[in-house]
Amino acid sequence: MRITNEVYLIGGGANVCFGLSDDPDCHIYLIDTGAGLAIVDAGLGEGDSINRITANILAEGLDLADLKWLLLTHYHMDHVGGAAKLRDRFNLEVWSPAEAAEVIRTGDEGPPSLTIAKASGLYPMDFSFDACPVDVELRDGDRLRLGDLELEVIDTPGHCHGHQSFLLHGRDRRYLFAGDAIFAGGKVVWQNIWDNSVQDTVATINKLSSVEFDALCPGHAAVIVEGGRRHVEIAQRKVESLGLPQSLV
Ligand SMILES: [Zn+2]
Repeated sequence: MRITNEVYLIGGGANVCFGLSDDPDCHIYLIDTGAGLAIVDAGLGEGDSINRITANILAEGLDLADLKWLLLTHYHMDHVGGAAKLRDRFNLEVWSPAEAAEVIRTGDEGPPSLTIAKASGLYPMDFSFDACPVDVELRDGDRLRLGDLELEVIDTPGHCHGHQSFLLHGRDRRYLFAGDAIFAGGKVVWQNIWDNSVQDTVATINKLSSVEFDALCPGHAAVIVEGGRRHVEIAQRKVESLGLPQSLV
């Protein structure tokens, strides 16, 4: 599904995404950099997801041979569970937050709270996390060339440990790929897991409120093409009044 002339949605389950691939995949974005294609987040990668993602890319008239990168925002399974499969299928270079790299490389199911996430019904009980090599470890403030475009890395913890967002300087607008840091309507995700932090979430909202961008591309729910900053401002007003943003789920 084409969002702009350079960003597409190629996957996402039907729960709080657009039903482009199997549940419980997050939004899986594709960036056409002009010199190669980048995928942002991988989904859970179960069921028929990888085939559906492949079909969605082909349906846009894009060439699978141009796929070069897989960027990961954080280590939750609906974002990284399918990383190894996508990497293997398309021979991708994997970029991940430095603080999440060891978990992703080793398939460590502890820090991402996989056992309790499965018990809660979020993921199938027989799901296991496939370790995925990480080629590039990203740190706050990094500015990297992504084909013909530039990408800035922003640490945005609070949703979980080591979470990052990516500010893409596109040809006609700036995009914030926010993972699960902030959603349309100024919402966040409050979860009963060890690394979900109120104080880190508030610091992230304050940090993002000074970032200039147009499109808000979060990990779930609505995608905002213009005026994305307004949604961060909603959250910021909430925390300024000593309240907390609403939870997406
Ligand atoms: Zn998450």
